[in-house]
Amino acid sequence: MSGGNITNWIFDLDNTLYRGDAQFFSQIDKKMTRFISEFLQLDPIEARIKQKEYLAEYGTSLSGLMAVHGMDPAEFLHYVHDVDLSLLDPCPHLPSAIAALPGRKFIFTNGSRAHAKNVGDHLGVYDQMDGIFAIEDFDYVPKPKRSPYIKFCDRFDIDPSTAIMFEDSTRNLEVPKHMGMQTVWVTPDHDWHQEYEDNSSQPNWIDHVTTDLSAWLNSSGKA
Ligand SMILES: [Mg+2]
Repeated sequence: MSGGNITNWIFDLDNTLYRGDAQFFSQIDKKMTRFISEFLQLDPIEARIKQKEYLAEYGTSLSGLMAVHGMDPAEFLHYVHDVDLSLLDPCPHLPSAIAALPGRKFIFTNGSRAHAKNVGDHLGVYDQMDGIFAIEDFDYVPKPKRSPYIKFCDRFDIDPSTAIMFEDSTRNLEVPKHMGMQTVWVTPDHDWHQEYEDNSSQPNWIDHVTTDLSAWLNSSGKA
């Protein structure tokens, strides 16, 4: 791929700007279970099942809690994103790799604005971003639903044909691909090709796959 015609670089945050096999995100995942357990008065196993059901059906567990139970999102977001950043090792090559990209850069996350700032700062990339688009900005209707992508492009005046999107979640790349963006699946799993080689259900909306975002940006992200 040549990045020569790309002028808008759109990054998911969690498990994309840092490795998905880091133990960091599991803190958030566990805090969600604890919150749901208390909020719905469920034992932890039942709470976990609800958490994953809502994630699958609504895009985020939060959206399910809001839709089904009328929950106020603020307390939930504050609680689950209050995490120990020392468990997250920043990639030393990422800030320079992002700095070298031609055009504008964005974080587009189903997490909160505060979480994007905390983690983005810790990773050394927050100040390089031309825009942050977080769950509050799209009224808690998350990726992979279509509306947040439309709002994102409207907000920042982005022609999808000039954009590329990076995600660890393949389902979050389907809408952007259909809108005309290029798509990059960032996965820590070196065996991804085995998983998909004989699998007729391989997502056809994935243009590129990488296990190392910084290296990919350095080699493929420039014209
Ligand atoms: Mg992610």
